[in-house]
Amino acid sequence: MATILRDGDLSLLDGTVAVVGYGSQGHAHALNLHDSGVKVVVGLREGSSSWGDAEAAGLAVASIPDAVRDAQLVSLLLPDQVQPQVFTEHVEPDLGENAAVLFAHGFNVLYGRIAPAAGHDVIMVAPKGPGHVVRRLFTEGFGTPALIAVEQDASGRARDLALAYAVGIGAARAGILETTFKEETETDLFGEQAVLCGGTTELIRAGFETLVAAGYQPEIAYYECLHELKLIVDLLWEGGFKHMRWSISDTAEFGDYVSGPRVIDSHVRERMQAVLDDIRSGEFAKLWIAEMDSGEAGLRGHRAEAANQLIETVGEELRSLMRREDASAVG
Ligand code: NAD
Ligand code: MG
Repeated sequence: MATILRDGDLSLLDGTVAVVGYGSQGHAHALNLHDSGVKVVVGLREGSSSWGDAEAAGLAVASIPDAVRDAQLVSLLLPDQVQPQVFTEHVEPDLGENAAVLFAHGFNVLYGRIAPAAGHDVIMVAPKGPGHVVRRLFTEGFGTPALIAVEQDASGRARDLALAYAVGIGAARAGILETTFKEETETDLFGEQAVLCGGTTELIRAGFETLVAAGYQPEIAYYECLHELKLIVDLLWEGGFKHMRWSISDTAEFGDYVSGPRVIDSHVRERMQAVLDDIRSGEFAKLWIAEMDSGEAGLRGHRAEAANQLIETVGEELRSLMRREDASAVG
């Protein structure tokens, strides 16, 4: 079993931390570090709509070059697509000689899209949760687990710096795990493609469309294959497979053992392996980088096609009936 770290020396962050970007992760890191007593400046594009939000939250805000200039550590929390260009044009020219550069995901470093000069620590603190949850749990006194990694140790204390940052955003309250940029990136890509995002949506859609094609009402198929999944996942999250199976009926549990492996069979595992092979060989990165470089028309096409699927139109209607304000109006 890997060692879960629960501590670090926050006092190593004794300079300014420049948080570049104030989106999902950016706002959470900036506010959590600030609340932990770290000196934070948020770096934004001139005219950014987040400028007022960050200031209203009590944070110092500056242009990206101004924020970066005197920073001990620069946290690059922009969408992965724009990071290389922003780094080259607005971060690198003003980066202090010994400043550390921090990422929340390893993609750009692993695939050579950003390579800070040898004098800089290159570290990662990747929370295992969406930014808004990272912030909410922190304000509630809890934390979101995080992975830390060191790609380049110029100072000799890059790991300690990553640990300090992880403590500052509250991750030590939940657990910090050491990894490499390669392991974080490859497992993250695999998880979102095969299980969390791609695997789950296709499983739901296949179940929904199987029922609809057999003549069942789409509304019932929606409740069965999508709505109830949330309730099942909550149980899985709380207590694993055993807890979920304790809560469902014995009929459901028996069917789970008998039919689950018929659906997710050895063919599915072979295709998961093929997805993983494409990630490890860099084939997926090549595809996504080509997509980014050519304006992302393919991504927009997939998005438009997905929006027209029956499960989405039926779901929109049903969810509008289940909103909380309707529920409370009914009593
Ligand atoms: P995001 O999409 O929420 O955007 C971040 C900010 O970037 C926004 O404030 C936006 O205004 C700014 N921005 C966009 N384009 C810009 C440009 N051209 N120049 C300057 N600023 C620009 O980003 P995010 O989802 O928080 O992702 C940040 C990093 O965190 C990524 O590396 C991502 O992989 C990683 N990460 C994200 C999550 C998550 O919860 N979303 C989870 C783990 C890791
Ligand atoms: Mg992920």
